[in-house]
Order: sequence, then C-alpha cells, then structure tokens
Amino acid sequence: MKFEAIAVENIPLIHTGDDLPSIIFENIELQDRDIVIVASTVVAKAEGDIFRLEDITPGKMALEIAVRSGKDPRFIQAVLARSKEILVEKPFMLVTTLAGHTCVNAGVDESNIEDGFLLYPPEDPDASTSRLGQRLEKLTGKKLSVIVTDTNGRAFKIGQTGAAIGIYKIKPVKRWIGEKDLFGKILEITEEAVADELAGAANLLMGEGAGGIPVVVIRGLDYYCEEETFITEIYRPEEQDIIKKGLRCLQKKIE
Ligand code: GDP
Ligand code: MN
Ligand code: MN
Repeated sequence: MKFEAIAVENIPLIHTGDDLPSIIFENIELQDRDIVIVASTVVAKAEGDIFRLEDITPGKMALEIAVRSGKDPRFIQAVLARSKEILVEKPFMLVTTLAGHTCVNAGVDESNIEDGFLLYPPEDPDASTSRLGQRLEKLTGKKLSVIVTDTNGRAFKIGQTGAAIGIYKIKPVKRWIGEKDLFGKILEITEEAVADELAGAANLLMGEGAGGIPVVVIRGLDYYCEEETFITEIYRPEEQDIIKKGLRCLQKKIE
C-alpha cells in the first residue's frame, strides 16, 4: 500500500485576479481522483483578500482589546472583521471565524505577503474551494477532490500543522463506526479526520517559509466523493463543545 504526495513546482507569486485553477492546470497533469491541496495564502491572494495595515481603522472593541493585550489595534480590527466570537484575547486571539472555524487570529496572516499587508483567509472557504474545484475539473476533464488548507496551532501541544479549512468532493471525516478491529470488536466512536490528515501531509512539502510550494497533489488514496461536502460538518455542535464552554467561563471570570 502506498500513496504519493507531489509538490507542484513553478507556481509564480500570486496576485489579485490571477486565475489559480489555470495556473495549477498548466503546472501538473492531474489524474482522476487526485486530491489537490492548496494553501489558503494563495487563494486569498488570488481572491484579493489583501489589506494594507495602515488603511484599517480600528473600532471601539479593537481599541479596548488592544489596551488589554498590547497588540496593534489595526491588526485586532482585521481579526474581528472575520470573527463571530472571541474565546481568548491574550496572549493570542483565539476566535471562531464567520465560517465556524476556531483558530488563532481568524487566520489573518502577515507572512508570505509584502511588508505592511495582511492576508485574510477566504470568508467562505467551502465556496472558494468549490469554485476552484469546479473550474479545475472543467479544465482537466477529471474527477478531483480539493482541500484548501491553513497552518493551525493545536490545543495542548506545541507545533503547528496543516488543517483543512475548505473542501470539495471529499468527506472531511472517515467514519469507522460499525467496522471491526483486529479482534472483531465493533468500533463505536472513531471518526478519522482525513481532510486534516491530508492537509498535514501536504504541509510537509509546502513548509511555512519561502519554499514557494502552495499546491500539493495527493495521488493513490481514494477519498473522492460525488456529493457536495462541507468542512463545517466537522465543527463540533455548540452544546457538545466543552472546551469552548470552559473558555467562555474563564472569560467571564476575567471580566
Ligand atoms: P498558509 O499555510 O495557507 O498560511 O500558507 P503559507 O504562507 O504557510 O505558505 C505555504 C506555502 O506556499 C509555502 O511554501 C510558501 O512559500 C508558498 N507560497 C505562499 N504564497 C505564494 C505565492 O504567491 N506563490 C508561490 N509559488 N508560493 C507561495
Ligand atoms: Mn496562514
Ligand atoms: Mn502555512
């Protein structure tokens, strides 16, 4: 058993309005059931989700948080613009984004972009991923899955990994419930986070710096799914999310 992870070379610096699917199409020969993994940084660049820090006017809330955290209120304003809930303000902003993803700084990033600019991850990542996937399927005539990724930290552990923030034609988890283990016992709980695992694998080739590899193709794993799929399926329902409940309690104590 084996699968391949292929770095797509020769992708140029991406700018607003660039046709990312065509650029990918020109630089790799895709096959049926390939999983195309794309860093959110280049999706944001192509979609023009780029802002100049000096053009951002912080609102009242951003100014208040800045007093408490000592961070640039303009950066805080950028994070707030993409957040529906702030869970932690200090020493970093842990928020739930408008799309429901919980991460540091709502994914707003200052790296791999010119000085003085901020990149916002796609506002509706599943929609951006679907657009990319549909276009790429048209160009290639192949059945493809697409995952848009970002680099996220993890609770309880040091070190960041690739994480899926948008998906197209791939289920975000593989249900093992009802399958047997080596000893014939029926599995009751396990759902494998395949989209995140694939994002992590792709990130090994992308890296985080000047590598210039924003697209990786995973070949040889069959996760293609004909139906429409949504990354939002893996966001834990509010009533089951005990970590968020705990963080909200903590915030109330601090106030
Ligand atoms: P993120 O994880 O989505 O925030 O993306 P990163 O900023 O970590 O970048 C992932 C990879 O994409 C790295 O290898 C970067 O060097 C590369 N990258 C970022 N922007 C561009 C670009 O415009 N063109 C190319 N060719 N590579 C880029
Ligand atoms: Mn990022
Ligand atoms: Mn990254």
